[in-house]
Amino acid sequence: MDFESFRAEVKRVVSGDKVIESRGELMLYSYDASPAESAIPRMVIQPETTNEVSEVIKLANEYLIPIVPSSGRTSLHGGPIPYNGAVVLDLMRMNKVLEVNLEDSYVHVEVGVRLDELNAELARHGHFFPPDPASSTAATVGGSLANGAGGMRGAKYGTVKDWVLGAEVVLPTGEPVFMGCRTLKCRAGYDLLSLVIGSEGTLGVITNAYLKIWPLPEAIVRLRVYFRDVVDAARAVGMIKARGFRPLIVEFLDRGTMEAVSGYVKEFTYPRDSEAMLIIDLDGPPEAMKRYIDSMVNILKGAGGYEIEWTGDKDEMDRIYMARRAAYPALLRLFSGMRVMPEDISVPPSRLPEAVKGIGSIASKYGLKIVTWGHVGDGNLHPNIIYNPNDQSSVSKLYSVSRELGLMAINLGGTVSSEHGIGVLKKDLLTSELEVKGIAQLRLMKAIKRVFDPNNILNPGKVIDID
Ligand SMILES: Cc1cc2nc3c(=O)[nH]c(=O)nc-3n(C[C@H](O)[C@H](O)[C@H](O)COP(=O)(O)OP(=O)(O)OC[C@H]3O[C@@H](n4cnc5c(N)ncnc54)[C@H](O)[C@@H]3O)c2cc1C
Repeated sequence: MDFESFRAEVKRVVSGDKVIESRGELMLYSYDASPAESAIPRMVIQPETTNEVSEVIKLANEYLIPIVPSSGRTSLHGGPIPYNGAVVLDLMRMNKVLEVNLEDSYVHVEVGVRLDELNAELARHGHFFPPDPASSTAATVGGSLANGAGGMRGAKYGTVKDWVLGAEVVLPTGEPVFMGCRTLKCRAGYDLLSLVIGSEGTLGVITNAYLKIWPLPEAIVRLRVYFRDVVDAARAVGMIKARGFRPLIVEFLDRGTMEAVSGYVKEFTYPRDSEAMLIIDLDGPPEAMKRYIDSMVNILKGAGGYEIEWTGDKDEMDRIYMARRAAYPALLRLFSGMRVMPEDISVPPSRLPEAVKGIGSIASKYGLKIVTWGHVGDGNLHPNIIYNPNDQSSVSKLYSVSRELGLMAINLGGTVSSEHGIGVLKKDLLTSELEVKGIAQLRLMKAIKRVFDPNNILNPGKVIDID
């Protein structure tokens, strides 16, 4: 591995202002939003075209230099951290919305566009891109496709994999290819695009994509409801679905979340006897909304909900939603000096009551605080484990708690990672899940990685380890 020759060649294929080598700037690429160990890259390259990405990756493959794609860096599992002297490929300069095509129902977009920017542009055309991670102000199209991101609207609209028609992908050998189609239907052989979506930058670098778009809902009403028992709140979700509702969002916040937010946002208050809160968005034609609300209020009351409030006013909706939006920063503020490990389990919605009870039991067993919120409309819970990084016993409890949460989800028919991905933090749990579902899949995953990336240069050590 001759890094000096690689460095000189890189500067031949991309201009000097697209290469970062100063230590101060390199530090900015040493971490993501997760508690994973940080690592400083040897160099950061900021390409502007697919051709530049291709040339740089060809060089990395030739000189056997590990290379790590990076976008908004909001990953919660260490995905874009450049371990082992890797070089970072920062895709944020590829940030144009290339075409909005309403007749063909797609937007063609470069990967560095942030999701909120994309939706602001689409709103001008009366459309939107439904997947909405809570990090959408900072998260990009590329990072979201690579992570297989989901979000609040997942229960109704699924995750990014359901909204990608085709994408330009640079393979780890440097060849650019177009995977998938621009059309809404596509059966062109094996579905390689689906392998790349959610591969966390280990099978290819996505440079631009055709994303399916959808007309904006005609009307939205937001409801907020409290519960005295966390299990009742969890049970309400199954009741809502069984009655045929598919709400745009169903967000769950436990008491710990409400406590954290109330100390962070002074306008936020909650009844002192409540143990959980749900925020529910219903969408549809304006003339149907009253009927929907009446029916939803009945379901919620039947499930033990109280102090039910609803509104279709934009500012009031924002006020209700603030509790969810502020949850993560509120937690970081409340437990400053401690660390937060955000978990990302899913269970079938009918098993949510068992899952929330289980989270409480695991927290008591290990004596670590767990604060939970989640996009429960699709059974996705985010138990956030609070631990002290300077206390060895707290750190070892953290790993036991994380493992027990994952195993509980698997036992309830769920998964250890719903939308954040595996990165470096969930590799053991992925193996545990595959042991239940058929460990032969791990062999297939390793074989697929070798076929795409024979020299293991693209984001090595993430998702799975190659022996
Ligand atoms: C407060 C907070 C809330 C969050 N809420 C959610 C949520 O509700 N739902 C959810 O799904 N996630 C959530 N996340 C996690 C994260 O924001 C998403 O996964 C997001 O989509 C990552 O996008 P990014 O641009 O930040 O990618 P990065 O963090 O930069 O990268 C993510 C991964 O993709 C790879 N990568 C980046 N760009 C490319 C590319 N162009 N080609 C190939 N590989 C690439 C990287 O190597 C890395 O492995 C949250 C994070 C935070 C901090």
